[in-house]
Amino acid sequence: MDLGLKGKTAIVAAASKGLGFEIAKALAEEGVKVSICARNESELVKARETIVKATGGEVLAVKCDLTIQEDIKNLVDKTVETHGDVNILVNNSGGPPSGFFTELSLEEWVKAVKLNLMSAVTLTKYVLPYMIKNHWGRIINSTSFSVKQPIEELILSNSIRLAVVGFAKTLANEVGKYNITVNNVCPGYFKTDRVIQLAKSKADKLNTTIENIFKGWESQIPLGRLGNPREYAELIVFLASERASYITGATIQIDGGIIKSSL
Ligand code: NAP
Repeated sequence: MDLGLKGKTAIVAAASKGLGFEIAKALAEEGVKVSICARNESELVKARETIVKATGGEVLAVKCDLTIQEDIKNLVDKTVETHGDVNILVNNSGGPPSGFFTELSLEEWVKAVKLNLMSAVTLTKYVLPYMIKNHWGRIINSTSFSVKQPIEELILSNSIRLAVVGFAKTLANEVGKYNITVNNVCPGYFKTDRVIQLAKSKADKLNTTIENIFKGWESQIPLGRLGNPREYAELIVFLASERASYITGATIQIDGGIIKSSL
């Protein structure tokens, strides 16, 4: 299948490792000019080098804290300066801390709103004019399966990511006339640093091992295993492609079947 992505330009936020990194690499393999960002510059530069080596693609790395508006503007400006345009936006970010409601401070709530909602809103604000001008665009919000089924001890994710879903569905209605699609993707458990960290903090609390926590998660997944980040990236690449031209306003899970509801 020709995905029709060659020569397009993408911003993949929070992409020095984990899901964002795999998405950026998979897009670069399809001939997309990619911009990646993260806070830790040395990790980011390493990620850029790895993607360039693996794909021979054009990759721009911009240090950016997605909770800082000026950093986000700089990321978009540098992308346009270097790649000439922005056609695809993958809104991804770090995860909010785990914890029960009684354990989390109001400051942590405000921080999570900035990280997981406002980063997507701000990036979209700066990128949208380029998509409107081109009469073509793809906005993909990487969220979590928490938007379809609350996850224990993750009240920040369960709450704030639903605002992203509402944002995307409404925006999809507003920008369809410009041939811009807006979708959400909801990952189940994929083995990344973030998930290993979550497993570790759960294991410490329950006085057990990380292996036991993984086993517990695997037992809830019909496919019996955690996902490989590459499997996640392939769905995002498809949604970014010409082949997904009639999918918009959708919230699509990729979770090995862990979500228990029918819809
Ligand atoms: P990860 O392996 O920890 O990678 C996170 C990436 O985000 C890193 O590149 C990190 O780099 C960057 N980042 C974090 N905070 C940032 C900030 N303020 N500004 C810019 N970049 C930032 O995490 P992941 O597993 O790929 O998860 C990515 C997102 O998907 C998270 O929101 C997570 O909650 C969500 N999610 C993941 C899964 C899963 O199974 N992996 C499931 C559901 C939801 P720096 O630290 O250097 O900034």
